[in-house]
Amino acid sequence: MNRACKENGLSLKAPLSLLSMTDLIPLADPQQCRSALAEVNTIEGRERLLTWVVQLIQGLRSMDLPRVLSAGDLIRLNDLEKEMEGHQLRLEAARNDRISDLIRDNKRLQLEVLERDLVEEQVSRKSKLLEAINQVLNQMVADRGEHYLATTCLGAACELTGSPSGFIVENQEGIWRLLAVASDISESAGAKTDGSSVFPMNNFWREVTQTGETRAFAAPGAHPLWQPLPDGYPEIRTLLAVSLPGKAGVSGFIALANNPRGYAFIDQADVETLALSFVEALQRKRAEQAKQISERRLNLALDSAEEGLWDYMVQDEEIFFSPRWFTLLGFQAGEFPYSFETWVALTHPDDVALLKNTIHTATRGDEEAFKIEIRMLSQEGQWRWIQVRGRAVERNVRGEALRLVGTLIDFSPYKHVETALQKANEELQRLAALDDLTQIANRRRFDERLNDEWCRARRDGLPLGIIIADIDYFKAYNDTYGHVRGDEILYAVAQSISATLKRPMDMVARYGGEEFAILLPNTDLPGAAQVAQEIHKAIEALQVKHRASPVDGHVTLSMGVAARVPRGERSPIAMVESADQALYKAKAQGRNRIVMAGMEENICC
Ligand code: GH3
Ligand code: MG
Ligand code: MG
Repeated sequence: MNRACKENGLSLKAPLSLLSMTDLIPLADPQQCRSALAEVNTIEGRERLLTWVVQLIQGLRSMDLPRVLSAGDLIRLNDLEKEMEGHQLRLEAARNDRISDLIRDNKRLQLEVLERDLVEEQVSRKSKLLEAINQVLNQMVADRGEHYLATTCLGAACELTGSPSGFIVENQEGIWRLLAVASDISESAGAKTDGSSVFPMNNFWREVTQTGETRAFAAPGAHPLWQPLPDGYPEIRTLLAVSLPGKAGVSGFIALANNPRGYAFIDQADVETLALSFVEALQRKRAEQAKQISERRLNLALDSAEEGLWDYMVQDEEIFFSPRWFTLLGFQAGEFPYSFETWVALTHPDDVALLKNTIHTATRGDEEAFKIEIRMLSQEGQWRWIQVRGRAVERNVRGEALRLVGTLIDFSPYKHVETALQKANEELQRLAALDDLTQIANRRRFDERLNDEWCRARRDGLPLGIIIADIDYFKAYNDTYGHVRGDEILYAVAQSISATLKRPMDMVARYGGEEFAILLPNTDLPGAAQVAQEIHKAIEALQVKHRASPVDGHVTLSMGVAARVPRGERSPIAMVESADQALYKAKAQGRNRIVMAGMEENICC
């Protein structure tokens, strides 16, 4: 009981069992009970306190305590009991009020829930419907024409909004054309929907659609710009106009008409969603058609040209190879992964850098188009010459390529011809510079080299030496041994001189009939004379008998030597003439000797 006292806001001085009646009686004081009740806020708390006080009163009264309860105490107890009854009645009423409040709230909540369920059901029904429409649209993109797409979209929009009439109009290069009409617009009125029929566009429709915002009219005829549509179109009593978004603003509109209830906000939102789906589907359809056409054209071109196609999306590092790309090399189409690594793996190691650099350069935007030749491995394990062409077809704002497209062609047959041609050319050049009989350089080649070396020597300030050698009494040799033998000797002498020359830059040429010219870059007069002596020794070593020669019975040479550091002179003619004069002197002095230009004494062998 003392706990109940505490809970109910009354304080006891000691545990109840120790309290005397004299302590309990003041507890039943009405004033104290009132203030205790005032301190308790909840209905439940008051109820408990009241029950406790009533029990206390009844307990006190049941006790036969005439000694402790005075008549005054009994009166006070009766008063308190009545007051508590009053409190109990009020509490009962408060509880009943609260219960009815709760019942009312509950009903309201139930209604709210019902309403929300209804809205949710409507929303889910509509979203399911839109989803189904989207699926149908997507499907149609794949297998139906755009007229069917527009008609189905319009049908769905009419269905969604409860509209008996409607049409879709698109601006095609400045002309507003009907893409679809709902069933109650008469086609006989000229409203063909294959895009060939022009919609009677007027200021009302321009004004209504130009901002791109959806417009709903309860009575469009009341609009200041309203003009009725021509015969064949229905009379428009209520209208919902939803614009079709395009790349540059509004590309057309969907008009729905004559729902007797007018058009609610949810109708507008539905048709806007539908319009977006329609435009996307239409664009996809058209893009696909365009792609199909260009692909067909490209395939045709590639088939006839025997070219393989590659298409590289640079950022995603995605590459596409056409079937011909593989079959060109003898592989099955798609035999290897579609990756740049595949390309590199099939490329000759010496050509990988060229391929990578070319692609890299094209990507950076340095070159618009490129053409390279690389070797690629064929299925038979041979390297085939492949000509790779490519160009950037898409670039970002920084000019970097986003997409490179190009072709491959098996260039091997042409490459073989090209290589053969190159070889033939080289041979031709060699032959053009070669003396047929002696297999050393000819006069033309000598003159070219002489000029080059002259210029070089003048630039570098270095000496250039020249020897002109002539076989002694060669006419007599021919006369004695015959021309065939004479030719053989010419060959032997030429090869012998050639073998004597040590430096790679030195050169011997057949200068005339039995005359040879030796060019010695970076060689002064003593150096050139030394080479002449070595040549002399080499010819002597040949020991070719020449019984008609008055010199010594063998084939011998007379040589004129000249050398100089070119200064100022534009041509080496003077130096050649000096060598020639020296040769003339050698002949005059008895042959089989070397004369140095500008020197008195000669080298007599
Ligand atoms: P010299 O000592 O004064 O040089 O007397 P030479 O007979 O050598 O000089 P000449 O100029 O009188 O005659 C040159 C001869 O070289 C004429 C020709 O019979 C011979 N000869 C020139 N070209 C050829 C050739 O291609 N083949 C052969 N077998 N002989 C040639
Ligand atoms: Mg001679
Ligand atoms: Mg001669």
